[in-house]
Amino acid sequence: LKSVVRITTGSQALDELLGGGIETLCITEAFGEFRSGKTQLAHTLCVSTQLPIHMHGGNGKVAYIDTEGTFRPERIVPIAERFGMDANAVLDNIIYARAYTYEHQYNLLLGLAAKMAEEPFKLLIVDSVIALFRVDFSGRGELAERQQKLAQMLSRLTKIAEEFNVAVYITNQVIADPGGGMFITDPKKPAGGHVLAHAATIRLMLRKGKGEQRVCKIFDAPNLPEGEAVFQVTSGGIMD
Ligand code: ADP
Ligand code: MG
Repeated sequence: LKSVVRITTGSQALDELLGGGIETLCITEAFGEFRSGKTQLAHTLCVSTQLPIHMHGGNGKVAYIDTEGTFRPERIVPIAERFGMDANAVLDNIIYARAYTYEHQYNLLLGLAAKMAEEPFKLLIVDSVIALFRVDFSGRGELAERQQKLAQMLSRLTKIAEEFNVAVYITNQVIADPGGGMFITDPKKPAGGHVLAHAATIRLMLRKGKGEQRVCKIFDAPNLPEGEAVFQVTSGGIMD
């Protein structure tokens, strides 16, 4: 049996909410409005995953699939420095790929699995997991096919998490809830429907707080108590 590794988010409050950090062997999903910190958390995890285990890292490499073109290697530099790591060495251990269609995204996963069989990876990021599906299947009547392809992709992610003992961090968008009436105070929900709800083990809802503050709420997790954590987005990444 493979043992779970927990990777620090950079914020002690957020780590505590998560029971120690984001876990290998499963999928952690973060969804939330624009600028809620999903991509900044991804950047921080790119670095913290490379920390030794005794520093709450994963002592492993990172694979980053970017569907929105929002990865910034220059953001890695101050985050690495904040953790006392060499920025160039950290960058060398991030395998980055930009995906342009959902099929491309899927094929990249196949290639990454081959790489993970040879080198010690501890984190796979897909930011965002759903954006290309929403573009590629935007027509009427395409929802069933989209959901089927999305399920295929997510099942591949689960397999990678379990086979290589990596943490999978995916980001998701919020959409207006078509069932939300005028009496529902927050008519937003994560995209991807039941397929995504089923695949993600831990679902985190991020929102903006005051200034640089962000709030993370456990939306769904089988063995974590409900709760919230407040953290900051800084030049050095996510912190308390
Ligand atoms: P999302 O992916 O959820 O849309 P991001 O993770 O891109 O959101 O978060 C964007 C926010 O992160 C910005 O609004 C800004 O507040 C913060 N941010 C980005 N870069 C920096 C930085 N270098 N220093 C401080 N805050 C930053
Ligand atoms: Mg983003």
